[in-house]
Amino acid sequence: MQALKRKQDEFDQITGNMKEGLVLLDHMGRIISINPAARALFGANADCVGEDFLTIDRKRDIRQAVGAAKERGHSSFRAKKNGREYQFDLSRIDSEGSVHGLVILAFDITEQVNAERNRREFTANVSHELKTPLQSIIGSAELMENGIVKPDDMPKFVERIHKEASRLVLLIDDIIRLSQLDENAEMPHEEVSVRVLAEEVCEALSDAAKLKDISLEVSGDDGVMNGVRRLLYEIIYNLCDNAIKYNHPGGKVHVSVKEQAGMLSLCVQDDGIGIAPEYQEKVFERFYRVDKSHSKQSGGTGLGLSIVKHAVKYHHGKIDIQSEPEKGTAISVSFNTNEY
Ligand code: ADP
Repeated sequence: MQALKRKQDEFDQITGNMKEGLVLLDHMGRIISINPAARALFGANADCVGEDFLTIDRKRDIRQAVGAAKERGHSSFRAKKNGREYQFDLSRIDSEGSVHGLVILAFDITEQVNAERNRREFTANVSHELKTPLQSIIGSAELMENGIVKPDDMPKFVERIHKEASRLVLLIDDIIRLSQLDENAEMPHEEVSVRVLAEEVCEALSDAAKLKDISLEVSGDDGVMNGVRRLLYEIIYNLCDNAIKYNHPGGKVHVSVKEQAGMLSLCVQDDGIGIAPEYQEKVFERFYRVDKSHSKQSGGTGLGLSIVKHAVKYHHGKIDIQSEPEKGTAISVSFNTNEY
């Protein structure tokens, strides 16, 4: 009896800590055991043991799955419960030619389903975004090929092809970067000074800033942290690039680095066109642009801020956005320097 009790306690311990829902039914479909995760899932309490399982859940899909598992040995289906998505696997327990019961396992697959949907949406968006510049290139090339373009207009057409092809390269680069981040692959960490990186970024963007008569300034602490150099560079580059792109001629961009109590923050502030409150969350979504034509004109891909979001998440950091139309935008990213 003692050994049996010990075994039962062990079983309860294990199934009690499982995230997955587990239900054991006897050959009549009565509940022999139901773990806490399954009880929460089916809205049942502990004294449902001994009851017919189909009185706990009368939904058609579970009834059909129980019938199918009894007949064929196995069945599975997906269903939404309590606002989350679950996969139910049912297996018949056979022993020496007779049916002893049924095991029902329920897995929470909400994240997986969301990731699949995001991937599908991303693929559809990528195809659309790649098609637009390609169509423009083909259109221009066809006109030139058919001799419709006047010699004087030739440079304009060649320039359009060049511009659209360069946009494609930028787009593909961004897509590759995002896919690498999606893969969540381990990347080499090293000691990096965020201030030095910010200065390198400003150097790289100095021509673009000069062209728009925008001043770029870096100030603050060294901001040394352990991180992935390439990703941190990417964060600062995309934020500064936007601060220049969505600014007025004569505008200012200020990058500041601050270290305080184990936290490191970097803020890129501009006095440009700003972002209305209703778009401030959306700009971090893939391919989202407030003003599509402005973004396209200035070489935007709509992926810059999603790369920033991912790269910050990779470093377990936080993003904060403050913006007011026609006043400017300040985007800060902060990291816990004790994290690694
Ligand atoms: P894009 O390649 O179009 O710049 P991003 O993902 O970097 O894509 O930015 C998404 C959108 O957010 C931009 O198209 C723009 O409308 C808006 N945005 C980003 N940064 C700023 C900024 N500093 N000031 C105003 N608008 C901005």
